[in-house]
Amino acid sequence: MAKRDYYEVLGVAKNATKDEIKKGYRKLAIQYHPDKNPGNKEAEEKFKEATEAYEVLSDDEKRKAYDQFGFAGVDGAGAGGFNPNQFHDFDDIFGDFGSIFENFFGGGSSRRSSSGPNQGANLRYDLEISFQEAVFGTKTEISFQHEETCDNCHGTGGANGASRKTCPTCRGAGQVRRSAGFFSMAQTCPTCQGTGSVIDNPCPYCGGTGVKSKKRKIAITIPAGVDDGKRITIPRQGNAGRNGGPAGDLFVVIHVKSHEYFERDGKDLYCAVPITLPQAALGAEIFINTLDNRKIKLKIPSGIQSGKLVKIRDEGVASVNSSSKGDLYVKLIVQTPSRLSSKEKALYEELMKVSDPSDSPKLIKISDLSRN
Ligand SMILES: [Zn+2]
Ligand SMILES: [Zn+2]
Repeated sequence: MAKRDYYEVLGVAKNATKDEIKKGYRKLAIQYHPDKNPGNKEAEEKFKEATEAYEVLSDDEKRKAYDQFGFAGVDGAGAGGFNPNQFHDFDDIFGDFGSIFENFFGGGSSRRSSSGPNQGANLRYDLEISFQEAVFGTKTEISFQHEETCDNCHGTGGANGASRKTCPTCRGAGQVRRSAGFFSMAQTCPTCQGTGSVIDNPCPYCGGTGVKSKKRKIAITIPAGVDDGKRITIPRQGNAGRNGGPAGDLFVVIHVKSHEYFERDGKDLYCAVPITLPQAALGAEIFINTLDNRKIKLKIPSGIQSGKLVKIRDEGVASVNSSSKGDLYVKLIVQTPSRLSSKEKALYEELMKVSDPSDSPKLIKISDLSRN
């Protein structure tokens, strides 16, 4: 969509005075104010358009640049892109008009619904577990701090059973409308902090909030096969709700430590073992240590190349959702001896004589290179 001329937007002449520009903007700002047109996209656009125009035309420098070069002259200053952060400059003209924008543009704090039940906040707990614990599952205890409903006042916030009463300032709305110059705007009620109710005789245990911070210890079961980053939800262990609302949930986020010898890819495990040149050439049976410290037999086929993977079925990770298990992949690394005994040296020399060097091509085809 083509941008409209800033003077046209504000409905003023090219030679308008600063006062006329200001008046033009006020008129539009009041008409299309977001507080007056909740959810109205068109009004929001008009409001932004007018504000952008005003931002440029109210500034002598920017106005001069705009008059000379059009939008190109003020590009980056406001015309290039609408920047709500620049509203701070308006505070001197419009008082605390700027505070509305925080809410309007999503920059401010979310308003709590003023009355009625509110669900408590969800909490997050980061739990680090070992590689083995993730693979085989574990039971553990976690300690954390959360807000619980105050035992003394049972969440009402009042001492000796005193109940809350409707806030006299906002009459329970949680918000007050305040006029600042030519604007009327909604603000969180300063008397009740937006809750809509007040208490004459606050509970001394919770200071009238109805909740108290408490340390809790709970046992949790980590299922076998859990993945790094997995979130376990513990219902109703977040912060207590207000006004009879339910408690939030506790999310336990799992962080799995790495292992010295094993790696994991989903349900499959990976490890690497060294083998000798004769074992690789002739084939062999070796034993390897599993993650849970069992010794299992691994058959090395003759003529295996260094870096090849050998699969051992069902020695991988259990699945959280099914009975199937992953596999264990063992990478065989052929170790070339760097120090030879005199007997070994003699045997290798013998070996060199019997293997025909003309057999081996000078280059290996790229497609034959093992990518493992
Ligand atoms: Zn209390
Ligand atoms: Zn109030």
